Amino acid sequence: MAGAISPRALVIGGSLGGLFAANLLLRGGWDVHLFEHSREDLVGRGAGIITHPELFACLARLGIAIDGSFGVDIPERIALDRSGRIIGSLAVKQCLTTWGRLYELLRAAFPGDRYHLGHTLQRVDAGTGGVAATFANGVTARGELLIGADGIRSAVRAQLLNSARPHYAGYVAWRGLADECTLTPSTHADLFPKFAFSLAEREQMLGYPVAGFTRSTRAGERCYNFVWYRPADEHRALTALCTDVNGRQHDMSVPPPLIRPEIVEAVRRAADDLLAPQFSEVVRRAPQPFFQAIFDLESSQITFGRIALLGDAAFVARPHCGMGVTKAAGDAMVLDDALRAADNDVPAALLKYESARQRFGSAVVAHGRHLGSYLEGQDTGEAHQHHTAEAVMREIAVTREFV
Ligand SMILES: Cc1cc2nc3c(=O)[nH]c(=O)nc-3n(C[C@H](O)[C@H](O)[C@H](O)COP(=O)(O)OP(=O)(O)OC[C@H]3O[C@@H](n4cnc5c(N)ncnc54)[C@H](O)[C@@H]3O)c2cc1C
Repeated sequence: MAGAISPRALVIGGSLGGLFAANLLLRGGWDVHLFEHSREDLVGRGAGIITHPELFACLARLGIAIDGSFGVDIPERIALDRSGRIIGSLAVKQCLTTWGRLYELLRAAFPGDRYHLGHTLQRVDAGTGGVAATFANGVTARGELLIGADGIRSAVRAQLLNSARPHYAGYVAWRGLADECTLTPSTHADLFPKFAFSLAEREQMLGYPVAGFTRSTRAGERCYNFVWYRPADEHRALTALCTDVNGRQHDMSVPPPLIRPEIVEAVRRAADDLLAPQFSEVVRRAPQPFFQAIFDLESSQITFGRIALLGDAAFVARPHCGMGVTKAAGDAMVLDDALRAADNDVPAALLKYESARQRFGSAVVAHGRHLGSYLEGQDTGEAHQHHTAEAVMREIAVTREFV
């Protein structure tokens, strides 16, 4: 498009989904500006991230080189019983990275003067020729395309499709990282470098090695990341969990330093009572466990003329699929392809994007619901089938075709 004025894309949300889209569109010749609510660079959003081939395809399309510092390669999965005995194994090769590493790579690939911190979207206004975004700080930006990559509580979606709301699944995920150096030699030998599971009634613990606190992926410098699904009744248990040290009530998670110490101690005791001893040790060695409530979100529509929803703003599947980040990368690639094929005819391109990603998003959400049906309290034979050592090793966060 030499000589022509580039069309402008406004990306709302500067996390992974927004950065995948912003980087791809910039390389496709768009004049991209990204607006993030947070006043500071994003850090420490969760811990380990499971990867799938589509995520690497997106990074490759962006020209981001991957080396050994990207993640930890895992050759197999194991299941432990309550006594700590290894009761099964399955060869599944996967690379486990972290949210922080991905953010760092994507942020470095996007020009700093186009990434606008401290901009909270308040309203979008769309006309036939363009779209305008108004922010809480009084700024208004205009463009030919707007991408709502503003997460599960998307302000873009709330304005355009108020019927799509997150649905609490009835359980939370406790997460944390333990430095491998702090583990006893026998626990270390059992868990490294493996993806491991431990099951209890309506509870599922899983863990895998990731980069360490110094971001090193070298043996001896890594962490063991755990994700422990535990039931929490919405009105009593979740409300209690979400009340912080100052008595303030939060919505779906509490900033880790503000979680009440008695809650963390209760979780550590529960790990001793319920889990394989290797995992209770990991939970005790994790300096700052934190929790996230688990939600489903399904949108009946993800495009509105010149506006598209992407990543968690469009669909949120339970993390059993391990697909959140890969889905956001896939959304961004399909959007990029559609815009190129339509020669940047935005409404036509978005119709194509809608038909492809609507089906994909719905399929991932449905699969996450199946995998989590037992944890949510369903007492059917099918739900129980997802809660055996063999099933979790075979089904959880594996790469599969969704449509
Ligand atoms: C327990 C758990 C485990 C998980 N494990 C995995 C895994 O192994 N693999 C995986 O791929 N995924 C996993 N996920 C999911 C993954 O974290 C998300 O799917 C992914 O981060 C989605 O990115 P996003 O950019 O769409 O949304 P988000 O990361 O939520 O980003 C939205 C951004 O928009 C900004 N924003 C919000 N409102 C506004 C506004 N009004 N104006 C401007 N900006 C705004 C926010 O500040 C934020 O930066 C897991 C999730 C959970 C809860």
